Amino acid sequence: TCPVNAITSGNNSILFLRDLATPNKIVITQMAPSVRVAIGEAFGFETGANVEKKIAAGLRKLGVDYVFDTTWAADLTIMEEANELAERVKRYLEGDKEVKLPILTSCCPAWVKFIEQNYGDMLDVPSTSKSPMQMFAAVAKDLWGKEKGLSREQITSVAIMPCIAKKYEASRPEFSRGLNYDVDYVITTTELIDIFKKSNIDLSQLEDEEIDQVMGEYTGAGIIFGRTGGVIEAATRTAVELITGQRVDNIEFTSLRGFDGFRSCELTVGDLTLRIGVTYGLKEARKMLDKIRSGEEFYHAIEIMACTGGCIGGGGQPRAKKREETIKSRMEGLNEIDRSLPLRRSNDNPAVLAIYEKFLDYPLSNKAQELLHTRYFVKRKK
Ligand code: SF4
Repeated sequence: TCPVNAITSGNNSILFLRDLATPNKIVITQMAPSVRVAIGEAFGFETGANVEKKIAAGLRKLGVDYVFDTTWAADLTIMEEANELAERVKRYLEGDKEVKLPILTSCCPAWVKFIEQNYGDMLDVPSTSKSPMQMFAAVAKDLWGKEKGLSREQITSVAIMPCIAKKYEASRPEFSRGLNYDVDYVITTTELIDIFKKSNIDLSQLEDEEIDQVMGEYTGAGIIFGRTGGVIEAATRTAVELITGQRVDNIEFTSLRGFDGFRSCELTVGDLTLRIGVTYGLKEARKMLDKIRSGEEFYHAIEIMACTGGCIGGGGQPRAKKREETIKSRMEGLNEIDRSLPLRRSNDNPAVLAIYEKFLDYPLSNKAQELLHTRYFVKRKK
Protein backbone atom coordinates (compact mmCIF):
# COMPACT_ATOMS: atom_id res chain seq x y z
CA THR A 1 0.00 0.00 0.00
CA CYS A 2 0.99 3.61 -0.46
CA PRO A 3 2.83 4.90 2.62
CA VAL A 4 0.95 8.20 2.48
CA ASN A 5 -2.53 6.79 1.81
CA ALA A 6 -2.83 8.54 -1.53
CA ILE A 7 -5.71 7.24 -3.60
CA THR A 8 -4.60 4.17 -5.48
CA SER A 9 -6.00 2.15 -8.31
CA GLY A 10 -5.30 -1.40 -9.32
CA ASN A 11 -2.45 -3.18 -10.96
CA ASN A 12 -2.45 -2.51 -14.72
CA SER A 13 0.00 -5.25 -15.67
CA ILE A 14 -2.61 -7.30 -17.56
CA LEU A 15 -3.72 -4.23 -19.48
CA PHE A 16 -0.09 -3.48 -20.38
CA LEU A 17 0.52 -7.02 -21.66
CA ARG A 18 -2.76 -6.95 -23.59
CA ASP A 19 -1.89 -3.62 -25.24
CA LEU A 20 1.58 -4.90 -26.17
CA ALA A 21 -0.04 -7.86 -27.90
CA THR A 22 -2.64 -5.77 -29.77
CA PRO A 23 -1.74 -5.07 -33.41
CA ASN A 24 -1.77 -1.41 -34.51
CA LYS A 25 -1.35 -0.09 -30.97
CA ILE A 26 1.74 2.04 -30.54
CA VAL A 27 2.89 1.54 -26.97
CA ILE A 28 5.31 4.13 -25.60
CA THR A 29 6.84 4.14 -22.13
CA GLN A 30 8.47 6.73 -19.95
CA MET A 31 10.44 5.84 -16.80
CA ALA A 32 10.98 8.06 -13.80
CA PRO A 33 14.55 8.89 -12.66
CA SER A 34 14.38 6.77 -9.49
CA VAL A 35 13.23 3.54 -11.19
CA ARG A 36 16.66 2.92 -12.78
CA VAL A 37 18.53 2.91 -9.44
CA ALA A 38 16.10 0.54 -7.69
CA ILE A 39 14.86 -2.11 -10.14
CA GLY A 40 18.30 -3.75 -10.46
CA GLU A 41 18.06 -4.93 -6.84
CA ALA A 42 15.61 -7.62 -8.00
CA PHE A 43 18.06 -8.92 -10.64
CA GLY A 44 21.26 -9.13 -8.60
CA PHE A 45 22.68 -5.68 -9.33
CA GLU A 46 24.12 -3.58 -6.50
CA THR A 47 21.69 -1.19 -4.82
CA GLY A 48 21.88 2.17 -6.56
CA ALA A 49 23.30 0.77 -9.83
CA ASN A 50 21.98 2.59 -12.89
CA VAL A 51 20.36 -0.06 -15.11
CA GLU A 52 18.41 2.23 -17.46
CA LYS A 53 19.92 0.58 -20.56
CA LYS A 54 18.89 -2.87 -19.31
CA ILE A 55 15.37 -1.58 -18.68
CA ALA A 56 15.28 -0.23 -22.25
CA ALA A 57 16.32 -3.66 -23.55
CA GLY A 58 13.78 -5.45 -21.33
CA LEU A 59 10.91 -3.20 -22.38
CA ARG A 60 11.72 -3.71 -26.06
CA LYS A 61 11.79 -7.47 -25.47
CA LEU A 62 8.26 -7.16 -24.07
CA GLY A 63 7.24 -5.37 -27.27
CA VAL A 64 7.27 -1.68 -26.33
CA ASP A 65 7.55 0.42 -29.49
CA TYR A 66 9.30 3.49 -28.05
CA VAL A 67 11.20 3.58 -24.75
CA PHE A 68 11.43 7.19 -23.58
CA ASP A 69 12.54 8.82 -20.33
CA THR A 70 10.59 10.94 -17.86
CA THR A 71 13.91 12.59 -16.96
CA TRP A 72 13.77 14.46 -20.26
CA ALA A 73 10.48 15.97 -19.06
CA ALA A 74 11.97 16.69 -15.63
CA ASP A 75 14.26 19.09 -17.48
CA LEU A 76 11.23 20.56 -19.23
CA THR A 77 9.47 20.95 -15.85
CA ILE A 78 12.50 22.81 -14.52
CA MET A 79 12.42 25.22 -17.46
CA GLU A 80 8.89 26.20 -16.48
CA GLU A 81 9.28 26.02 -12.68
CA ALA A 82 12.62 27.84 -12.59
CA ASN A 83 11.20 30.65 -14.70
CA GLU A 84 8.21 30.94 -12.33
CA LEU A 85 10.56 30.97 -9.33
CA ALA A 86 12.93 33.52 -10.91
CA GLU A 87 10.04 35.80 -11.88
CA ARG A 88 8.54 35.74 -8.37
CA VAL A 89 11.93 36.22 -6.61
CA LYS A 90 12.90 39.10 -8.92
CA ARG A 91 9.60 40.86 -8.18
CA TYR A 92 10.08 40.22 -4.46
CA LEU A 93 13.63 41.66 -4.53
CA GLU A 94 12.29 44.73 -6.36
CA GLY A 95 9.95 45.31 -3.41
CA ASP A 96 6.67 43.95 -4.86
CA LYS A 97 4.62 43.16 -1.75
CA GLU A 98 1.89 41.34 -3.72
CA VAL A 99 4.12 38.54 -4.94
CA LYS A 100 3.40 35.07 -3.52
CA LEU A 101 6.31 33.30 -1.88
CA PRO A 102 7.33 30.62 -1.24
CA ILE A 103 6.79 28.84 -4.49
CA LEU A 104 6.27 25.10 -4.11
CA THR A 105 7.41 22.29 -6.32
CA SER A 106 4.39 20.36 -7.49
CA CYS A 107 5.59 17.08 -8.95
CA CYS A 108 4.42 14.85 -6.07
CA PRO A 109 0.71 13.98 -6.46
CA ALA A 110 0.30 12.80 -2.86
CA TRP A 111 1.58 16.14 -1.65
CA VAL A 112 -0.61 18.06 -4.14
CA LYS A 113 -3.67 16.15 -2.94
CA PHE A 114 -2.67 16.89 0.65
CA ILE A 115 -2.48 20.66 0.10
CA GLU A 116 -5.77 20.63 -1.84
CA GLN A 117 -7.49 18.89 1.06
CA ASN A 118 -5.83 20.64 3.99
CA TYR A 119 -4.53 24.06 2.89
CA GLY A 120 -7.17 25.33 0.46
CA ASP A 121 -6.22 28.92 1.36
CA MET A 122 -2.66 28.37 0.05
CA LEU A 123 -3.43 27.05 -3.45
CA ASP A 124 -2.12 30.19 -5.17
CA VAL A 125 1.35 29.38 -3.87
CA PRO A 126 2.26 26.14 -5.75
CA SER A 127 3.96 26.25 -9.10
CA THR A 128 1.38 25.59 -11.80
CA SER A 129 3.85 23.49 -13.79
CA LYS A 130 2.62 19.95 -14.38
CA SER A 131 4.71 17.10 -13.03
CA PRO A 132 7.36 15.59 -15.35
CA MET A 133 5.10 12.54 -15.91
CA GLN A 134 2.21 14.70 -17.08
CA MET A 135 4.40 17.07 -19.11
CA PHE A 136 5.97 14.11 -20.89
CA ALA A 137 2.60 12.60 -21.71
CA ALA A 138 1.09 15.87 -22.95
CA VAL A 139 4.05 16.46 -25.28
CA ALA A 140 4.05 12.81 -26.40
CA LYS A 141 0.39 12.70 -27.37
CA ASP A 142 -0.06 16.26 -28.66
CA LEU A 143 3.28 17.11 -30.30
CA TRP A 144 5.36 13.97 -30.88
CA GLY A 145 2.32 11.94 -31.93
CA LYS A 146 1.18 14.60 -34.37
CA GLU A 147 4.65 14.72 -35.96
CA LYS A 148 4.53 10.94 -36.38
CA GLY A 149 1.05 11.12 -37.91
CA LEU A 150 -0.50 9.33 -34.92
CA SER A 151 -3.76 10.28 -33.24
CA ARG A 152 -4.02 10.39 -29.45
CA GLU A 153 -6.13 7.23 -29.60
CA GLN A 154 -3.46 5.30 -31.50
CA ILE A 155 -0.87 5.91 -28.78
CA THR A 156 -0.89 3.95 -25.52
CA SER A 157 1.15 6.03 -23.09
CA VAL A 158 2.49 4.04 -20.13
CA ALA A 159 4.41 5.56 -17.23
CA ILE A 160 6.79 3.43 -15.17
CA MET A 161 6.89 5.06 -11.78
CA PRO A 162 8.20 4.50 -8.24
CA CYS A 163 4.86 5.64 -6.99
CA ILE A 164 1.35 4.40 -6.34
CA ALA A 165 -0.05 7.94 -6.07
CA LYS A 166 0.95 8.52 -9.71
CA LYS A 167 -1.94 6.19 -10.65
CA TYR A 168 -4.25 8.69 -9.02
CA GLU A 169 -2.51 11.65 -10.73
CA ALA A 170 -2.85 10.01 -14.16
CA SER A 171 -6.60 9.64 -13.58
CA ARG A 172 -7.23 13.32 -12.73
CA PRO A 173 -9.72 14.69 -15.31
CA GLU A 174 -7.65 17.81 -16.06
CA PHE A 175 -5.07 15.49 -17.67
CA SER A 176 -7.49 14.06 -20.24
CA ARG A 177 -9.38 14.93 -23.41
CA GLY A 178 -12.74 13.33 -22.83
CA LEU A 179 -11.99 9.69 -22.21
CA ASN A 180 -8.50 9.86 -23.64
CA TYR A 181 -5.95 10.42 -20.88
CA ASP A 182 -2.44 11.80 -21.45
CA VAL A 183 -1.08 8.90 -19.38
CA ASP A 184 -3.16 5.82 -20.14
CA TYR A 185 -1.92 4.05 -17.04
CA VAL A 186 0.95 3.70 -14.59
CA ILE A 187 3.04 0.60 -13.87
CA THR A 188 5.10 0.69 -10.67
CA THR A 189 8.69 -0.51 -10.38
CA THR A 190 7.60 -3.61 -8.43
CA GLU A 191 4.87 -4.37 -10.98
CA LEU A 192 7.44 -4.13 -13.79
CA ILE A 193 9.78 -6.49 -11.91
CA ASP A 194 6.92 -8.96 -11.71
CA ILE A 195 6.11 -8.59 -15.43
CA PHE A 196 9.79 -9.12 -16.37
CA LYS A 197 10.08 -12.18 -14.12
CA LYS A 198 6.85 -13.76 -15.38
CA SER A 199 8.01 -13.11 -18.96
CA ASN A 200 11.40 -14.77 -18.21
CA ILE A 201 13.26 -11.53 -18.84
CA ASP A 202 16.34 -11.32 -16.60
CA LEU A 203 17.80 -7.81 -16.78
CA SER A 204 21.23 -9.11 -15.74
CA GLN A 205 21.38 -11.22 -18.92
CA LEU A 206 20.51 -8.44 -21.37
CA GLU A 207 22.85 -6.30 -23.46
CA ASP A 208 22.53 -2.55 -22.90
CA GLU A 209 20.22 -0.69 -25.26
CA GLU A 210 19.82 3.06 -25.70
CA ILE A 211 16.72 5.02 -24.74
CA ASP A 212 14.82 6.46 -27.69
CA GLN A 213 15.25 10.09 -28.69
CA VAL A 214 14.12 12.89 -28.75
CA MET A 215 12.27 12.45 -25.47
CA GLY A 216 15.15 10.56 -23.88
CA GLU A 217 18.00 13.04 -23.56
CA TYR A 218 18.45 14.35 -20.02
CA THR A 219 20.78 16.38 -17.81
CA GLY A 220 22.05 15.85 -14.27
CA ALA A 221 19.42 18.28 -13.01
CA GLY A 222 16.62 16.05 -14.32
CA ILE A 223 18.04 12.89 -12.78
CA ILE A 224 18.27 14.24 -9.20
CA PHE A 225 14.48 14.77 -9.19
CA GLY A 226 14.30 11.29 -7.70
CA ARG A 227 15.81 12.19 -4.31
CA THR A 228 14.89 14.58 -1.51
CA GLY A 229 16.14 18.09 -2.26
CA GLY A 230 16.73 17.19 -5.90
CA VAL A 231 13.80 19.00 -7.48
CA ILE A 232 14.63 22.26 -5.74
CA GLU A 233 18.35 21.86 -6.47
CA ALA A 234 17.56 21.32 -10.14
CA ALA A 235 15.23 24.35 -10.17
CA THR A 236 17.74 26.63 -8.45
CA ARG A 237 20.56 25.59 -10.82
CA THR A 238 18.56 27.31 -13.55
CA ALA A 239 16.73 29.98 -11.50
CA VAL A 240 19.86 31.42 -9.86
CA GLU A 241 21.33 32.05 -13.31
CA LEU A 242 18.08 33.62 -14.47
CA ILE A 243 17.96 35.91 -11.41
CA THR A 244 21.62 36.96 -11.39
CA GLY A 245 22.23 36.85 -15.14
CA GLN A 246 25.52 35.06 -14.36
CA ARG A 247 26.72 31.57 -15.23
CA VAL A 248 27.32 29.65 -11.98
CA ASP A 249 30.38 27.37 -11.95
CA ASN A 250 29.68 25.14 -8.96
CA ILE A 251 26.16 23.84 -9.39
CA GLU A 252 26.31 21.13 -6.71
CA PHE A 253 24.24 22.98 -4.12
CA THR A 254 25.24 20.86 -1.14
CA SER A 255 23.44 23.15 1.32
CA LEU A 256 20.16 21.73 -0.05
CA ARG A 257 21.21 18.10 0.46
CA GLY A 258 20.72 15.83 3.43
CA PHE A 259 18.43 13.17 4.83
CA ASP A 260 16.55 14.97 7.63
CA GLY A 261 12.81 15.14 7.05
CA PHE A 262 12.66 18.92 7.69
CA ARG A 263 15.50 21.14 6.46
CA SER A 264 15.74 24.93 6.38
CA CYS A 265 18.56 25.74 3.98
CA GLU A 266 20.30 28.89 2.80
CA LEU A 267 21.63 28.94 -0.73
CA THR A 268 24.08 31.79 -1.36
CA VAL A 269 25.42 32.56 -4.82
CA GLY A 270 27.27 35.89 -5.10
CA ASP A 271 25.05 38.59 -3.60
CA LEU A 272 21.94 36.42 -3.76
CA THR A 273 20.78 34.38 -0.77
CA LEU A 274 17.70 32.19 -1.08
CA ARG A 275 16.02 30.62 1.91
CA ILE A 276 14.73 27.20 0.97
CA GLY A 277 12.69 24.63 2.87
CA VAL A 278 12.92 20.92 2.06
CA THR A 279 10.72 18.26 3.63
CA TYR A 280 9.53 14.75 3.07
CA GLY A 281 6.72 12.95 4.83
CA LEU A 282 3.36 14.64 5.20
CA LYS A 283 3.76 15.13 8.95
CA GLU A 284 6.80 17.30 8.29
CA ALA A 285 4.99 19.02 5.40
CA ARG A 286 2.20 20.00 7.75
CA LYS A 287 4.74 21.42 10.21
CA MET A 288 6.38 23.48 7.46
CA LEU A 289 3.13 24.78 6.01
CA ASP A 290 1.84 25.76 9.45
CA LYS A 291 5.03 27.73 10.12
CA ILE A 292 4.72 29.50 6.76
CA ARG A 293 1.03 30.24 7.30
CA SER A 294 1.64 31.70 10.77
CA GLY A 295 4.59 33.80 9.54
CA GLU A 296 7.00 31.97 11.85
CA GLU A 297 9.11 30.92 8.83
CA PHE A 298 9.84 32.58 5.50
CA TYR A 299 11.15 30.73 2.46
CA HIS A 300 11.60 31.80 -1.15
CA ALA A 301 10.90 28.24 -2.27
CA ILE A 302 10.07 24.87 -0.76
CA GLU A 303 10.15 21.27 -1.89
CA ILE A 304 7.80 18.72 -0.37
CA MET A 305 7.81 15.03 -1.25
CA ALA A 306 5.57 12.52 0.46
CA CYS A 307 7.92 9.54 0.68
CA THR A 308 11.02 9.00 2.80
CA GLY A 309 14.02 10.34 0.92
CA GLY A 310 11.80 11.36 -2.03
CA CYS A 311 10.76 9.08 -4.92
CA ILE A 312 13.69 6.68 -4.39
CA GLY A 313 11.75 5.56 -1.30
CA GLY A 314 8.37 5.53 -3.08
CA GLY A 315 5.57 3.07 -2.33
CA GLY A 316 6.01 1.42 -5.76
CA GLN A 317 9.72 0.69 -5.29
CA PRO A 318 11.13 -2.64 -4.08
CA ARG A 319 11.02 -2.95 -0.30
CA ALA A 320 14.35 -3.38 1.47
CA LYS A 321 15.20 -4.86 4.84
CA LYS A 322 17.78 -2.14 5.57
CA ARG A 323 15.50 0.64 4.41
CA GLU A 324 17.53 3.77 5.22
CA GLU A 325 20.77 2.25 3.91
CA THR A 326 19.04 1.21 0.68
CA ILE A 327 17.43 4.62 0.16
CA LYS A 328 20.79 6.34 0.73
CA SER A 329 22.47 4.03 -1.81
CA ARG A 330 19.77 4.82 -4.38
CA MET A 331 20.27 8.52 -3.59
CA GLU A 332 24.02 8.19 -4.18
CA GLY A 333 23.26 6.31 -7.41
CA LEU A 334 21.37 9.36 -8.71
CA ASN A 335 24.09 11.77 -7.54
CA GLU A 336 26.66 9.66 -9.35
CA ILE A 337 24.70 9.82 -12.61
CA ASP A 338 24.43 13.61 -12.18
CA ARG A 339 28.19 13.95 -11.62
CA SER A 340 28.97 11.78 -14.64
CA LEU A 341 26.96 13.79 -17.15
CA PRO A 342 28.41 16.49 -19.39
CA LEU A 343 25.20 18.55 -19.10
CA ARG A 344 23.89 19.23 -15.58
CA ARG A 345 21.52 22.18 -16.01
CA SER A 346 18.06 21.73 -17.53
CA ASN A 347 18.52 24.92 -19.57
CA ASP A 348 21.41 23.20 -21.40
CA ASN A 349 19.33 20.20 -22.60
CA PRO A 350 19.30 20.49 -26.41
CA ALA A 351 16.25 18.21 -26.76
CA VAL A 352 14.27 20.47 -24.42
CA LEU A 353 15.45 23.67 -26.11
CA ALA A 354 14.40 22.13 -29.44
CA ILE A 355 10.81 21.69 -28.18
CA TYR A 356 10.64 25.41 -27.38
CA GLU A 357 12.15 26.37 -30.70
CA LYS A 358 9.82 24.12 -32.67
CA PHE A 359 6.54 24.32 -30.76
CA LEU A 360 6.40 26.29 -27.52
CA ASP A 361 8.38 29.51 -28.20
CA TYR A 362 9.82 30.08 -24.70
CA PRO A 363 9.17 29.09 -21.04
CA LEU A 364 5.84 30.42 -19.70
CA SER A 365 4.69 31.44 -23.23
CA ASN A 366 0.97 31.12 -23.95
CA LYS A 367 1.62 27.85 -25.78
CA ALA A 368 3.68 26.51 -22.87
CA GLN A 369 1.01 27.58 -20.37
CA GLU A 370 -1.66 25.75 -22.35
CA LEU A 371 0.22 22.45 -22.67
CA LEU A 372 2.47 22.31 -19.60
CA HIS A 373 0.54 23.97 -16.78
CA THR A 374 -2.39 23.00 -14.59
CA ARG A 375 -4.65 24.25 -11.80
CA TYR A 376 -5.40 23.07 -8.28
CA PHE A 377 -8.73 22.67 -6.57
CA VAL A 378 -9.96 22.79 -2.99
CA LYS A 379 -10.92 19.20 -2.23
CA ARG A 380 -12.99 17.78 0.57
CA LYS A 381 -11.67 14.78 2.45
CA LYS A 382 -13.81 11.75 1.72
FE1 SF4 B 1 5.13 9.39 -5.47
FE2 SF4 B 1 7.58 10.42 -5.26
FE3 SF4 B 1 5.48 11.64 -4.13
FE4 SF4 B 1 6.34 9.34 -3.13
S1 SF4 B 1 7.50 11.27 -3.18
S2 SF4 B 1 4.19 9.90 -3.51
S3 SF4 B 1 7.02 8.27 -4.99
S4 SF4 B 1 5.85 11.34 -6.34
